[in-house]
Amino acid sequence: MTKDIVLLGSTGSIGVQTLEVCELHGIRPLVLTAGKNTALLERQARKYRPDAVCVAEESLYNDIKTRLSDTDIKVSAGRAALCEAAARKCDTVVNAIVGVAGLYPTIAALSAGNTLALANKESLVAGGELVMGLSRESGRLIPIDSEHSAIFQCLQGRADNKINKILLTASGGPFYGYSYDMLKKVTAEQALKHPTWNMGRKITLDSATLMNKGFELIEAVWLFDTPWDKVEIIVHRQSILHSAVEFEDGSIIAQLGAADMRVPIQYALTYPKRYKTPGESFSLLNRQLTFERPDESVFLCLAAAKKAISRGGTACALLNGAAEAAGELFFEGKIPFYRIGELVMETIDNAGFSDTVDLDTIELADRTAREYVRLNAV
Ligand code: NDP
Repeated sequence: MTKDIVLLGSTGSIGVQTLEVCELHGIRPLVLTAGKNTALLERQARKYRPDAVCVAEESLYNDIKTRLSDTDIKVSAGRAALCEAAARKCDTVVNAIVGVAGLYPTIAALSAGNTLALANKESLVAGGELVMGLSRESGRLIPIDSEHSAIFQCLQGRADNKINKILLTASGGPFYGYSYDMLKKVTAEQALKHPTWNMGRKITLDSATLMNKGFELIEAVWLFDTPWDKVEIIVHRQSILHSAVEFEDGSIIAQLGAADMRVPIQYALTYPKRYKTPGESFSLLNRQLTFERPDESVFLCLAAAKKAISRGGTACALLNGAAEAAGELFFEGKIPFYRIGELVMETIDNAGFSDTVDLDTIELADRTAREYVRLNAV
């Protein structure tokens, strides 16, 4: 079992829940990192006593340095320092950073031969080929995302069995059943209310557009080496069945349980062992499970994700960049909700992409997508 971790993104939703799991099992965070929230990082540092903390935003170096000046905790800032933290020898690096910014520490952690418990799905969306190449060569990847943790669990001991398909479940988000016209009237407040999970702002928005499910399809393709058209997305409103695998003989093995991210976080840290649930116990009695197809003509982000992964090359990096840029414009009140899907699809259809995948072409695709969205937003 993991005894110490480097926790990237400790100030976020997954980061905070990871620290709760650490407390339960006496796992020591050696390094904690934040984006900008130095106040919370300071509180966490005083409570958990890591050797070092790092803020991604370089201009906040003096702020965090001053806050922790009465301690012997080392302080650093910037992307290079974040990557240095990810490369530090430890039992597990947890990457709970949001957005494509998480790709660099993912690469650093795997290149250093570390085991990486990955929540940052954007690493795999933008750089799947690169990241999986590294995980085969050096480090080891364990998924934290609940659906992928479920699939990972369904595959334990069955790696040699042929898969018919992966069944990736989706809650359907707050706009389940909406028509395209109804989507046009959606407000930011509605978009930020998820029916089941309590998460960071970006993933909550991505869940409302179903971009998150498109990202997860791509994540599943890379993690489980499965063709994209063998990943079937099914809307399961109850969020009880967290995903499943259908094998060659037609048997479907699924993982079910409470909708509590601490469960997959704990599994990633204690794998292959299981420990008592960190949350409430869960009963299947009197529960109903329903499964439906999502409507890709309403949720364009889902259709765009399939288009991007079927094209290959840096198309998924374009997808990720477009979704991040459109999401930011939505948060700034500059575009309505429904334009996010349109802009993501337009970017995939019109912006240039490369068949060659390396860090340079991924960065170029990311910049191209952001620029395309900015120029075509209104
Ligand atoms: P949050 O927004 O709650 O937290 C994100 C974390 O990343 C914060 O610590 C934030 O720091 C940090 N961060 C932001 N920008 C940067 C940057 N440029 N460089 C370095 N660090 C940065 O997100 P979540 O915890 O919800 O999600 C984290 C990841 O996990 C995402 O990829 C998400 O898709 C995935 N995930 C989340 C789930 C959930 O339930 N929340 C479920 C499954 C996957 P600060 O706040 O200090 O600025």
